[in-house]
Amino acid sequence: MSELDDGRRADLVGALGAVRSRISDACAAAGRDVRTVTLIAVTKTYPATDVATLARLGLLDVGESRDQEAAAKVDETAQLLAQLPDTSAPRWHFVGQLQRRKSRSVAGYAHAVHSVDRTELVQALSAAVEQIDRAPLEVFLQLSVDGDPDRGGALAADIPALADAVAAADRLRLRGLMAVAPMDADPDEAFAVVEQASSRLRGDHPGADAISAGMSGDLEQAVRHGATHVRVGTALLGRRAPVFG
Ligand SMILES: *Cc1c(COP(=O)(O)O)cnc(C)c1O
Repeated sequence: MSELDDGRRADLVGALGAVRSRISDACAAAGRDVRTVTLIAVTKTYPATDVATLARLGLLDVGESRDQEAAAKVDETAQLLAQLPDTSAPRWHFVGQLQRRKSRSVAGYAHAVHSVDRTELVQALSAAVEQIDRAPLEVFLQLSVDGDPDRGGALAADIPALADAVAAADRLRLRGLMAVAPMDADPDEAFAVVEQASSRLRGDHPGADAISAGMSGDLEQAVRHGATHVRVGTALLGRRAPVFG
């Protein structure tokens, strides 16, 4: 499978242009430099050929939310790119809820994990990175905006101890916070909460200045509240079939 599909490529070019202009409009409105926002293409349910096409278009930050799917796609993407010489390898961002027993696998391919929300994950990821000879793993602490643990994320009160644990781990690099706006919440209000939590976190850890927030439906509100990483799936790749589990 060395030929990437031209029709799909044209769709992705169009969608990428539209998302990039939404981001630059949002930055302009917020008085921010567009280079301070990293676009992560969330490719869950979409094939490695899409990842390779996006990489050819210069979009090298890719997000996945399930280890099993991601691990297979990482391998397939590497095989596709081996046949496309001038293309850089993507950086994989793990953005979904992470089970402790998957830490070893995720540490094998992820550049960053955005969903760290408990100490046992910090320990498991740290141990995994120590065992694998690799660059430090970037860590975002997921904040639960509404305190509902079902959707993942730590309570605001638990963030300081988690941050200290990540900062103390040699081969983990604390980048900042991640959040998903609760389904029934006003994203503006949700991301204002995240922005405040980020400023508290930076009081203790000045380098932890990243905010991973904003998806297809609310990236403007996230950029307005300081998002440095937006995670966009649908608006780039199209509507997904429902995912279970
Ligand atoms: C799927 C997913 C996204 C992308 O969502 P869209 O609404 O399709 O842009 C972002 N973040 C996380 C954590 C996700 O699981």
